Amino acid sequence: MNVRNNNVIPQSIKRQVKQSIKRSLQHIAAAFGRHTRANKEAQLLILMYHRILPHNDERTKSEEPGMVVTPETFKQHMSILNDYFNIIKLSDWVQLKQNGKALPANACAITFDDGWADNYEFAFPILQELNTPATIFLVSDMIGTDEMFWPERLARLITTIASNYPQYWSHPELSWLQDNPENYLFSDTPPDSEEISRLCASAKKYSDDEIHIRLTHIENILQLDIDNGAPSLLNWQQVIDMINTGLVEIGSHTCRHIRLNEQTPAEVIKQEVFNSKKEIEKHTAQTIKTFCFPNGDYTPKALELVKQNYQGAVTTQSGWNTADTDTHQLQRIGIHQDIAHDKTSFLARISGWM
Ligand SMILES: [Zn+2]
Repeated sequence: MNVRNNNVIPQSIKRQVKQSIKRSLQHIAAAFGRHTRANKEAQLLILMYHRILPHNDERTKSEEPGMVVTPETFKQHMSILNDYFNIIKLSDWVQLKQNGKALPANACAITFDDGWADNYEFAFPILQELNTPATIFLVSDMIGTDEMFWPERLARLITTIASNYPQYWSHPELSWLQDNPENYLFSDTPPDSEEISRLCASAKKYSDDEIHIRLTHIENILQLDIDNGAPSLLNWQQVIDMINTGLVEIGSHTCRHIRLNEQTPAEVIKQEVFNSKKEIEKHTAQTIKTFCFPNGDYTPKALELVKQNYQGAVTTQSGWNTADTDTHQLQRIGIHQDIAHDKTSFLARISGWM
């Protein structure tokens, strides 16, 4: 039977199916609530957010789908979490664990990576309204500048060329972009967010510095201006305003968002780990206790350096944490709009069902 054509299914059956799906989803949500309230284990759920942007915001066009949650969805997440969990600052949990103190049951920490200006614009008012603490991991050398991370630069460059100068695709300086197994057609049609995501994944075969150098080279040779005017990242005053409420704490996410992998020289890894902490402490007058590995990458040496300089660190490995989890390799659950747009999908995501 061809069920693709919705019109062949009678309305009464459609209604019954919808009602039965709704009932199943309500059972899932109720079971989740019963389980978490009865659970007295000292587990820690850490959520990983990046950008909070309204659905139609221009900035979402040059962003990968895994990076964004809308303010409405974010507010819904925060109120659900406040119902089920003890939301605490990440560094407070880490410190309790290190001091051998009792860990709270059903603990949850909210984290944001990178230090996007939209965190101040859209997430901070919601955190204040719901009195919810959070940790923001900053890339110290880029705060208060107009600089962009390379995925954003790459997305804007490709979108600008496709929209305005498709004739440039045949330029030899752009051949490295086309040398990838992805199926985006370099034409006058800008890539959609899934294609941007695949192009970024493909570019990761080069080091972060190498990608920046190549993008600068293309912008100079073709005389392209891909800047949209407004800075993408927070400035220090915004950071201090958030800290002063007592709700937001800051962690380090390196100086320049360099992946701490085998491609990165040992001396650079050392500087990224150490100098970012010093720089953030200089601007905020706070002790920076936690670290976040860019892209979730780290060598054994990088992990050792982070252990020497911070009380705890988060990765991109997915899962919950217990008292036995290494405090410097804490797992998180990544949250974005596509997989957590309503209560049921959000609960399913944080439970590890999807
Ligand atoms: Zn990051």
